[in-house]
Amino acid sequence: MSKWDFHPDRALDILERISDAFFSLDRKGRFTYVNSQAERLLRRCRAELIGRHIWTEYPDAIGTIFHTEYEKSLAEGTAKVFEGFYAPFDSWFEVRVHPATDGLAVFFIDITQRRAVQQALQEREEDLNRAQAVAKTGSWRLNVGRNELLWSDENYRIFGIPKDTPLTYETFLAAVHPDDRDFVDRSWRAARRGEPCEIEHRIVVGSEVKWVRERAELEFDRQEMLIGGFGTVQDITDRKRAEEHIRSAALFPEQNPFPVLRVAQDGTLLFANSSARALLEQWECQLGRQVPVEVKQALETALENAVRQELRICCDGRQLSFTLVPIVENNYVNFYGHDITERERVQAELLGAKEAAEKANRVKSQFLANMSHEIRTPMSGVMGMLELVLDTNLTAVQRRYLEIARDAAESLLQVINDILDFSRIEAKKLVFANEPFSLRECLSGTVDLLSLKARQKGLELKLDIDPEGPEIVVGDPDRLRQVLFNLIGNAIKFTEKGEISVHVRSCPQQTGDDRHRLLFSVRDTGIGISAEGQRRLFQAFSQVDDSHTRRFKGTGLGLAICKEIVARMGGEIRVESEEGSGSLFTFTVQLGRHSDRT
Ligand code: ADP
Repeated sequence: MSKWDFHPDRALDILERISDAFFSLDRKGRFTYVNSQAERLLRRCRAELIGRHIWTEYPDAIGTIFHTEYEKSLAEGTAKVFEGFYAPFDSWFEVRVHPATDGLAVFFIDITQRRAVQQALQEREEDLNRAQAVAKTGSWRLNVGRNELLWSDENYRIFGIPKDTPLTYETFLAAVHPDDRDFVDRSWRAARRGEPCEIEHRIVVGSEVKWVRERAELEFDRQEMLIGGFGTVQDITDRKRAEEHIRSAALFPEQNPFPVLRVAQDGTLLFANSSARALLEQWECQLGRQVPVEVKQALETALENAVRQELRICCDGRQLSFTLVPIVENNYVNFYGHDITERERVQAELLGAKEAAEKANRVKSQFLANMSHEIRTPMSGVMGMLELVLDTNLTAVQRRYLEIARDAAESLLQVINDILDFSRIEAKKLVFANEPFSLRECLSGTVDLLSLKARQKGLELKLDIDPEGPEIVVGDPDRLRQVLFNLIGNAIKFTEKGEISVHVRSCPQQTGDDRHRLLFSVRDTGIGISAEGQRRLFQAFSQVDDSHTRRFKGTGLGLAICKEIVARMGGEIRVESEEGSGSLFTFTVQLGRHSDRT
């Protein structure tokens, strides 16, 4: 019995006429029938194929989808439908393989063309999707007849709805922000009545609120019934946010409690916030009018030099400070004001307090100076009387006691002298004489006075004066003596053995120099001064080591006074010292030339 249940000739006739290519294979894979469409697609005539094995005729298909699906269909006895590419023909085929009792019946068509079109369509769609993603604009299409609403990929993305979710108008409305739902619904109904639809509204995507701009073009039939439409949905969240920033930035000066102004180069007021009202009243100025001349001058300077300016303005009993920021490219200046009334008041108070403190200090110093003077006068009396009593006949014990009293009075006078000088320095009352005196006499007098003390300690005191130096100079001999007295006195005080040498050198004259520059040095072989001690040496009330106060008398004022005196005489004082090996004090002074000398 044949496999066809009607006359085989008729069946073959039908197979010849169908548009599909068709061939049949026996169970071993040999061609049993090939219709003329198949001859064309297989590129062989049926006489060459009938009875031949399919895989020997088309060996390139072995291992491809054609081969595997044929095998499966045979083995499983099920039909297979697939698309495959056959490289030797550079063609795509759609194949349907049906198992038959004695082999396989195969229908196939060439779909190369169709696939090319499909491919092109797909590419187009991909391009569209990409363009929509870049433009952040999705689209939709409505077909009322087919009850179909289609969204583009970008539309799904904007609404945050998984792609290919079935859509209804309600799905869309649910995504709209609750506050905008009424408005959107009303607009859509109006659009369905033929009104143009172009709206902006918010949607809620997860926890985020987005802004979209919708445009719809609806199509109606002759009876004005809606048949479909096309629409776009643009994500304008970024733009809306920027707009909000601009709006709030525009509000910014309004929220400023101080005046903010903008003035054009020609002095025209372009902008003023509400905090500037009082100022504008004071200026009798308003938008579009001229600001006062002094303000205009300040803004011109700011623009010309392209630098910020500060401008102080009094308004309503308040002190305002304006920072003028020139915007050169726009030819205007922004004024940012702030209230500094409080700051200035505090500054003024601080300044007042400082002045008061300084004045009190001066008054105190003046008082000390006066007091020292008052103490010194009776002390001179005490000392004079002691000297007179010492010149009389006394017992050895009486003499001893009176000598101790005289030494104590001398020390006390020295202390008082120091305090007096220091107070005068503080009160800026130290006066300097300007008289001719003999440099040699001044120096040897001082050294002579102290040589007794040195000898008592077993120290040698040497004086060496530059023979090239001047004989008579003009200045204050007492002040010079005071400095030397202090330095040599200290040297003796802080040296136990060795010598103290005093040098005076004349510094080289400079042309046109009308003064003598002299360098004095006092060197000792005493206890020396530590580095830290040297740093504090010329400060008032400082003694290098507190324990010295016990062993060595003194106020710690001597060197501070010396420093001031030397400075006032146009010089400097320095120290070099090493603990245990001695100290070298040097100072320079400038003294006037004596006109009698050549
Ligand atoms: P005072 O009047 O107490 O001597 P000075 O200002 O003259 O004050 O000296 C301050 C301190 O500096 C002294 O107490 C001493 O510690 C130190 N000093 C000054 N001269 C010397 C020196 N030649 N050798 C060592 N120490 C010195």
